[in-house]
Amino acid sequence: MTETLFTKIINRELPADIIYEDDHCIAIKDIAPKAPTHVLVIPKKPIPRLVDAAEEDQALLGHLMVAAGKIAAEAGVGDAFRLIINNGADVGQTVFHLHLHILGGKEFSEAQLGF
Ligand code: AMP
Repeated sequence: MTETLFTKIINRELPADIIYEDDHCIAIKDIAPKAPTHVLVIPKKPIPRLVDAAEEDQALLGHLMVAAGKIAAEAGVGDAFRLIINNGADVGQTVFHLHLHILGGKEFSEAQLGF
C-alpha cells in the first residue's frame, strides 16, 4: 500500500512541525492555517476516512478526541476551539488519512460550521 502524506510525516520521511506525539497519534501544525491556531491530530493507523473506521477502532477514535483536548490546551486554546473532520472529497477532504482539525484563536459565527 502506498504511504499517505501523513504516514510519511509520522515516519519522518517528510518534514512537519510536530507538536505532540504518543503511541497512537501525532499532532502537527497545519501548513496552510485557517485560524491563528490550526493543528491536525492524526492517528498513526492510516484510516482513509472517518467512515472507514471499524468497530476495532473505537478506542483509537476516543483516544484522538481526548488527545485533541489536551493538545488544544497545550496550544493555548483549550477553552474555545472547533474540532472538524472532513469526510470525503465533496466536503473538502484532500488528504485521505483520517485527521481532526483543531481550530482556535478566532471567533466563529454560529452559522459558520466550517473553517
Ligand atoms: P483536509 O482538507 O480535511 O483533508 O485537510 C488536509 C489538511 O492538511 C489541510 O488543511 C492542509 O493545509 C494540510 N496539509 C497538507 N499538507 C500538509 C503538510 N505537509 N503539513 C501540514 N499540513 C498539511
